[in-house]
Amino acid sequence: MSAPSRRRPGPAAVAAKGRLRANGWLIARRTAQAAFLALFLTGPLFGVWITKGTLAASETLGVLPLTDPLVLAQSLLAGHAPETAAVIGAILVLGAYALLRGRLYCSWVCPINPVTDAAAALRRRLGLKEGTALNRRLRHMVLAAVLLASLVTGVVVWEAVNPVTLLHRSLVFGSLAAGGLVWTVVAAIFLFDLAVAPRGWCGHLCPVGAFYARVGRFGTVAVAAPRRAACDHCMDCYQVCPEPHVIAPALRDTGTDVIHSPDCTACGRCIDVCPHDVFALGLHRPRLPAAGTPVGATALRQGDPS
Ligand code: SF4
Ligand code: SF4
Repeated sequence: MSAPSRRRPGPAAVAAKGRLRANGWLIARRTAQAAFLALFLTGPLFGVWITKGTLAASETLGVLPLTDPLVLAQSLLAGHAPETAAVIGAILVLGAYALLRGRLYCSWVCPINPVTDAAAALRRRLGLKEGTALNRRLRHMVLAAVLLASLVTGVVVWEAVNPVTLLHRSLVFGSLAAGGLVWTVVAAIFLFDLAVAPRGWCGHLCPVGAFYARVGRFGTVAVAAPRRAACDHCMDCYQVCPEPHVIAPALRDTGTDVIHSPDCTACGRCIDVCPHDVFALGLHRPRLPAAGTPVGATALRQGDPS
């Protein structure tokens, strides 16, 4: 393999495919993020109630309950008896992400994603290459601490400071202007990713991402590298990937070309920036652990430390 270059990712793909195709999945994700937000906003803004509530718990068209299963788990551990609709909503959300891919939530729904993407883009533009190396297992420890805190205190502690909940609630209820805590938390995440640890929040600390990675580890939506023979090792995909450790196994000419790691958010950015169309997003059979093989061992074989 030739030595990796540190050129800015993107121009080669734009030259090869045109600006639109070199940003297609990014545009699709921003559109999806805006659409999810719009579902919640039509009520407060125009009196047309499509979805009432927030990402934590909502009801769509008066019939479809959707509940964040992590919020429900904290609530149960805190000793609260959930309503039936909340349980049904959590089962529906769990089922969808388990079937598809858990971390689709991170790149297609979460309102914090544009903040961390912006920090990563600014890091690249400023040529900031170094940063504090954090253990990827940290987010799983944070997740355990979040659940334990509810159990010990009898209060859903995390939701009082969860950046995802704070930002989404503020966007939906129009309290951004008054939300000093929201801006402080969002600015802290941006600065942390920019100046301390690249992709530090989503990749190493966020317990919501850790939870959805666990939920969707056998999901069917995955990126593959069907044209990996065309790869010239430019490293552009590694530079834009929020979880770059997931890419290498798929590019090796041994084993599967499918990125099975539950850390992959299916953001599609690697597809965008590859000038040779190495990657594609599609449905794939999940890689189930062989009988008698611990699930963690299956993941580790693909270089996935989570
Ligand atoms: S491998 Fe591709 S789709 Fe998966 S997280 Fe990285 S850039 Fe996104
Ligand atoms: S897969 Fe594409 S973007 Fe990634 S290193 Fe190979 S040629 Fe570059």
